Amino acid sequence: MRDGPPTPERLIQDIAAARPTTVADYMAAANAHYYATRDPLGAAGDFTTAPEISQMFGELIGLWIADLWTRAGSPPFRYVELGPGRGTLAADALRAAARFGCAPLGIHLVETSPTLRAAQSARLPEAEHQDEVDALPDDAPLVIVANEFFDALPVHQYVRTAGGWRERMVERRDEALMPVAGAIPADDAIPPALRDQPDGTIVETAPVAAAIIQRCAFRLARQGGAMLAIDYGHAGPAAGDTLQAVRAHRFADPFADPGEADLTAHVDFTALAEAARPAGVAVSGLATQGDWLRRLGIDARLKTLTTATPGRADELKGQRDRLVETDAMGDLFKLIAFTAPGWPQPAGFTGDPA
Ligand code: SAH
Repeated sequence: MRDGPPTPERLIQDIAAARPTTVADYMAAANAHYYATRDPLGAAGDFTTAPEISQMFGELIGLWIADLWTRAGSPPFRYVELGPGRGTLAADALRAAARFGCAPLGIHLVETSPTLRAAQSARLPEAEHQDEVDALPDDAPLVIVANEFFDALPVHQYVRTAGGWRERMVERRDEALMPVAGAIPADDAIPPALRDQPDGTIVETAPVAAAIIQRCAFRLARQGGAMLAIDYGHAGPAAGDTLQAVRAHRFADPFADPGEADLTAHVDFTALAEAARPAGVAVSGLATQGDWLRRLGIDARLKTLTTATPGRADELKGQRDRLVETDAMGDLFKLIAFTAPGWPQPAGFTGDPA
């Protein structure tokens, strides 16, 4: 037996030695290696996120924060971001919020990648880094933002076989890594609503994401504040294999070249809401990214920016369309918010249940 989780290198060696590994352990180790060794964002990288597409995205989140904070009575608070990438969203949001006098006591970035920590510090020199949510200060309300963070956390996959549900394991066969049904019955791991399915059906669970949401929710309940999570995904429960790999802006085989492609899975927002609710926080959402950005005023912001820089009109309109339109990110990406007891209802949500 080894102590602690395997390093990515060790995991890859283990898999190569045909020792079965869960899809979740494989995903966690491959992504830890992937994020630790590069800045994956932007045209020259593997994928582009909403804050990297347009400053309007982070600015409207800043507006959302300033509005909520004002209606909460303008208390001192700390800005927290989970998996902040290059720090672009935080920089745009805090600049926009500052125009309303809304400035945090501190900026706290929960990030594991040393490469991205360096990029974040260059952008936000005053920010502090934390390894995990538990290490955040407990002296003031927290406003927590997470964009495309939960989709990068490990999912367990289960496959329905003639012998019942089995966890999917990653094995090496004929020089290639591939997912196979494990040997141990796993029916108890499947949400009851999803148990009765045809053979071959895949079901995913995301206990790491649920645990992180739960920790955030308990902090909000104790300290006050709010959390906004943006990701691609759906209301659950739903069956299906959503694990995907993206490399150089193209889909790739998730089991080829571990640690060299971005591995993500769709977020089950209902499961996130269920993990948060026991803490006593209020849940707002889901809202689609397109609806939410329109409600927050992206078209007014577009007009202001276009008036200020008419030469960029087409570029800015293109950015807005990419974020909002249903054939781009507008429908697939969704938002959910959690607010502490006594905090006001956040803007941009209509009360549709998660
Ligand atoms: N929010 C950014 C980046 C999204 S990419 C944006 O929208 O551009 C995912 C981010 O989560 C990266 O910063 C990555 O390093 C970080 N990350 C992934 N797994 C993590 C974990 N377990 N703990 C903390 N950060 C993690």
